[in-house]
Amino acid sequence: MSSPSSLHVSTHPAVRHKLAILRDERTEPKKFREVVRELSWLLGYEALADARVRPLTIRTPIEEMQAEELGDRIGLIPILRAGLGMVDAMLELMPTAEVWHLGLFRDERTLRPVEYYNKLPDSASVDLCLILDPMLATGGSATAAIEVLKRWGAVQPVRIKLVNLIAAPEGVAAVAAAHPDVEIYCASLDRQLNDKGYIMPGLGDAGDRQFGTGKAG
Ligand code: URA
Repeated sequence: MSSPSSLHVSTHPAVRHKLAILRDERTEPKKFREVVRELSWLLGYEALADARVRPLTIRTPIEEMQAEELGDRIGLIPILRAGLGMVDAMLELMPTAEVWHLGLFRDERTLRPVEYYNKLPDSASVDLCLILDPMLATGGSATAAIEVLKRWGAVQPVRIKLVNLIAAPEGVAAVAAAHPDVEIYCASLDRQLNDKGYIMPGLGDAGDRQFGTGKAG
């Protein structure tokens, strides 16, 4: 598949190193959560590369200077439940961001997303929305989340970005077709989905592996 220009796959060695730990089936939930957090920080850093800054006057111990601070108002939208593990790292990077939880579960029969929780504020008073979900599989949840945000008012000039740890070509194609304006940041573009909708080689179920539930894969 040729990658859409809106897809950014990290090539950073630290990201590749941590991804191997995350994928390894021997990695226990505690370590898994730690690495989800570290990777989220690194991907968030990349996703913020074109964020706007505004001037700020500060004084160093030596003299006054013109510095900068993040100027974009940012909304973080973790997709429950697997996206929860990405929030703390993002808040470290962007302490003034607001967090709006969105609950979407995948109907195992249709593989379609069903919205069951929505904590978006009344109006879309942000410049940048970052949707957080470790896995971009079919693209069903991602497109549903983007549609929720756009209906709510996150339309140009508000920008929407997806931050995923691992993406499947099928999910990237679905998002690019439905929402070409949305940029995707991920640590890996994997091979394909299996018949249960899991990413191959992937890492199994990102929610189960973070929270120690179920049997992954
Ligand atoms: N969700 C997951 O947690 N893992 C996958 O491989 C696909 C969707």
